[in-house]
Amino acid sequence: MDKISNHPTEELLAAYSAGSLPLSQALCIATHLEQCRDCMHELQQLDRVGSELMQQLEPAPAPERLKQEMLDRLDSLEDDSREAVFGGDPSIPRCLRKFVSTDYRNMRWRRVSPGIQTVELCRDSNGARVELLKIKPGSAAVTHTHSGDEYTVILEGSFSDEHGLYRKGDFVVKHPRDRHTPVATLDRECICLAVTEGPIQLTGFFGRLLNPLLRRNYA
Ligand SMILES: [Zn+2]
Repeated sequence: MDKISNHPTEELLAAYSAGSLPLSQALCIATHLEQCRDCMHELQQLDRVGSELMQQLEPAPAPERLKQEMLDRLDSLEDDSREAVFGGDPSIPRCLRKFVSTDYRNMRWRRVSPGIQTVELCRDSNGARVELLKIKPGSAAVTHTHSGDEYTVILEGSFSDEHGLYRKGDFVVKHPRDRHTPVATLDRECICLAVTEGPIQLTGFFGRLLNPLLRRNYA
């Protein structure tokens, strides 16, 4: 496997370890972690520091009802993770198997341009859109900037933009003012997990005409 060269920042990993990230961002980090031993190792160190700090705190006694609710939630999580571990295609990251049960190809893809298809997986409570993108070999997305942060994890294939080449496992963050034109490499189709916190802003004359349509997806 090619070496992963784009990773989440230490701040993002620390927030993931503390459980303070929105679920959509946490899903991107978890998807990257399943493929990146370096970040998994860093996370284990952060978890250790976090649990040492927690041990220094004196817990207030939890009321009985709250305790029972937490136990019930843990039970249901275990059910989910059993299903995630034993169900689905092993080439699909475990944390995505809830959404992609059989194969990326069997999903209800929606064509957004001749070379690009998308399927929405879920919405976060903060409004962020979680989707898969499928880009045909050599196809380019239109040049765009962002109205919020955009997180991308490459699941299959690779793509490049003005800033570099991104391969399977890479974790890419674009901020609102970053302008880029992603192009899938010629060798194979590229499939990515993408989280966008607001509509992308297309640049250029035709792009400006289409922007109101894209904003409707977040209404
Ligand atoms: Zn990593």
